[in-house]
Amino acid sequence: QTEPNQPIASAEPGFVRVRGARENNLRDVDVDVPRDRIVAFTGVSGSGKSSLAFGTIFGEAQRRFLESVAPYARRLIAQGSTPHVDEITGLPPAVALQQRRGAPSSRSTVGTLTTLSNLLRMLYSRAGSYPSDATGRLDSDSFSPNTAAGACPRCHGLGIAHDVTEATAVHDPGLSIRDGAITAWPGAWQGKNLRDVTAGLGYDIDRPWRELPQKDRDWLLFTDEQPVVEVTPQRDRVAKPYKGRFWSAKSFIMHTLADSKSEAQRNRAQRFVETAPCSLCGGSGLTRAALAVTFAGHSIAELNDMPFAGLADVLRPTAELKTAGAARSDRSSGELTEVAVTIASDLLARIEVLVGLGLDYLGLSRATPTLSPGEMQRLRIATQLRSGLFGVIYVLDEPSAGLHPADAEPLITVLEQLQASGNSVFVVEHNMDVVRRADWVVDVGPGAGSNGGCVLYSGPVGGLSGIEESVTRPFLFASSADAPPRRVARDPQRWLGLRAVSRHNIQNLDVDVPLGVLTAVTGVSGSGKSSLVGGVLAEKALHDDAVDRVVQVDQKPIGRTPRSNLATYTGLFDAVRTTFAATDEARERGYDAGRFSFNVDGGRCPTCLGEGFVSVELLFLPGSYAPCPDCGGTRYNAETLEVRYRDASIADVLAMTVDEAAEFLGDVAVAARSLDTLRKVGLGYLRLGQPATELSGGEAQRIKLATELQRARRGHTLYVLDEPTTGLHPADVRLLVAQLNSLVDAGNTVVLVEHEMSVVADADWVIDMGPAGGDKGGRVVVAGTPEVVAANGDSRTAPYLAAALG
Ligand code: ADP
Ligand code: ADP
Ligand code: ZN
Ligand code: ZN
Repeated sequence: QTEPNQPIASAEPGFVRVRGARENNLRDVDVDVPRDRIVAFTGVSGSGKSSLAFGTIFGEAQRRFLESVAPYARRLIAQGSTPHVDEITGLPPAVALQQRRGAPSSRSTVGTLTTLSNLLRMLYSRAGSYPSDATGRLDSDSFSPNTAAGACPRCHGLGIAHDVTEATAVHDPGLSIRDGAITAWPGAWQGKNLRDVTAGLGYDIDRPWRELPQKDRDWLLFTDEQPVVEVTPQRDRVAKPYKGRFWSAKSFIMHTLADSKSEAQRNRAQRFVETAPCSLCGGSGLTRAALAVTFAGHSIAELNDMPFAGLADVLRPTAELKTAGAARSDRSSGELTEVAVTIASDLLARIEVLVGLGLDYLGLSRATPTLSPGEMQRLRIATQLRSGLFGVIYVLDEPSAGLHPADAEPLITVLEQLQASGNSVFVVEHNMDVVRRADWVVDVGPGAGSNGGCVLYSGPVGGLSGIEESVTRPFLFASSADAPPRRVARDPQRWLGLRAVSRHNIQNLDVDVPLGVLTAVTGVSGSGKSSLVGGVLAEKALHDDAVDRVVQVDQKPIGRTPRSNLATYTGLFDAVRTTFAATDEARERGYDAGRFSFNVDGGRCPTCLGEGFVSVELLFLPGSYAPCPDCGGTRYNAETLEVRYRDASIADVLAMTVDEAAEFLGDVAVAARSLDTLRKVGLGYLRLGQPATELSGGEAQRIKLATELQRARRGHTLYVLDEPTTGLHPADVRLLVAQLNSLVDAGNTVVLVEHEMSVVADADWVIDMGPAGGDKGGRVVVAGTPEVVAANGDSRTAPYLAAALG
């Protein structure tokens, strides 16, 4: 990495020196971590890696930053967000890139997340080709559907319209208005009244609808104006003239939907409304004026919908107009100006990073809630790369999570670029391929929770080979001799045939999924694994006689509020509350199990309503939480806490880890069974009361799996899992795989999307999707035993799988 003739100063890194760290389970840790290097923090789940990298190092950097910008924040910081550490020196500012905590807003897109949309808008504003009748250049905001200037007036920028259209409002354009062309108008006298008003306004109500000028048709159907005219009732000589108000078909329908008391009326109105891409802006959410501006012959909406690979091709010719002399422009087009070249080059450089990271199939308009965590994290990392920051510590949470080994390699290159531009890159990581590429490793352990919390080793990667007690060591320096003997592959009992499957990038695919065995679905990011497994398979299997039940064990949160936690989710808390209610003390006081709930009035703290936290509005941290001042975060009122079971209050139990609770509640049968399964999936380190909102996706998934295991019987259940090994140390992966195999041995089927090749090598069957992502994927490259897939010359998975097979 460093050239031999570079000055010593840059080869000798400075150090972040941590002294006396006691955050969570850390045991008074002293450690020196080099700056300006890539440092991997390793150790089993719950060993304390995150407590050191995020809780201590990032936490302290964040605290210093907050203190400098908001002195009044000190009071709040004193309440709990100060890391427990004696001293840290040599600490630069830090940026944390953590995975999937909290849902992104639904209006956010790949373009807004990466800020590439800003640049593209600037390109159109300053360097687009304007139509000859344009009055002037539009500003950047006019190209955003999220601004008042840019939003399409019909759909308000949403791109979707609940709309009355000519087709929904007029069923037979051969009819005249008098004969009822406008079907959406009401019937009976109300409809006759509107026809008379229309005639009174000077419209010809006897010509067939299709012969009326478009301008008149649009006005009659869509106007918001409600002129009042004097009407002479036609064909009715006895009635007197009167004043009548005009309603367009659309205003009548919208008014009925919003205000009518009659359900029958509302149902009738609904028939004239369609939910579709907005007809005015074609779904882009933009104004006509913005859509008329082009670059390289495309509107901004077209570029927004294009995959990055195509977008790069559009921008490249402009970006490569290198000579300033070539750049010129006329009044209507800026495409050949230096501004165009500058912005296009910048865009292209940033898009090429995304393409290099394997994200060529995504486009700017993709909504962020549809992205996988692995896609999201790479977008964030790529965005940071171009932010121009240096001298910063980036702290990353498993950057390789969710990545096929072929996608992990370019990611490591990007991390190296972040480091080369003068930053420190600290990664909490389980992927040994990434750890091997780091400059330095900090191994935390040896076990989880109170059995961990020590730094076993801090130094260049090779040195860890001498640390006997490290659980990481055998995986980092593995030879195939260390791997457990491979099982004999099981034979499928039956096959589930999926025929003519189409979903996202999958078109008309036939695939057979074996039942009664463990199948791994592999493939690079975007190849269609989740679309096949989480989408099609789960749905189709429900209708197959050989499958009784389909259980999707996904990474979605187990709850959206801090009130949910693993104890409530698994049902184990019911047993705990019953146990407390059965104590002598509780009986004397007349406390039932409900008294020990923090979800209902009675036993809970009235100030925080059982949440343990109160929200604090702070300028730079919207929605920050601080421990409740009344119950100190225990969630309960003082009387409830007086009731003790074996010397522990209910709050004490919630504060226990699963491992601790398994001992403490060993003779409460129902609780013991739950706790046992939680330990078997490697969650012994979690606290029972840890809020659902603080759990990672992988932890949520393993809690769901444990909940299934505790109720599992012999049967024909199909378990579908998306990357269950995310967030797991290789040692924990072995535990998890043993659990999945026990499900199969009990007669069930397990299908998992998986990138961890040691798991794929151990599967009975492998379905490899590809060959690449997006349009270039969606097919089965090869399906068969791991050996068959590993030998396939077209599979991008094959070389990695072959290596794992040894
Ligand atoms: P790792 O990153 O190695 O998986 P962590 O640093 O997240 O481990 O956790 C180390 C220990 O600290 C675990 O026992 C965990 O349950 C505990 N812990 C983590 N976060 C908290 C918290 N907010 N409050 C209390 N204990 C925690
Ligand atoms: P994988 O699981 O292999 O990473 P996915 O099944 O998530 O792949 O995606 C396959 C393709 O379908 C990709 O091109 C992806 O962009 C697209 N895709 C996935 N989800 C959606 C969605 N909700 N809307 C539109 N396209 C999607
Ligand atoms: Zn619109
Ligand atoms: Zn409280």
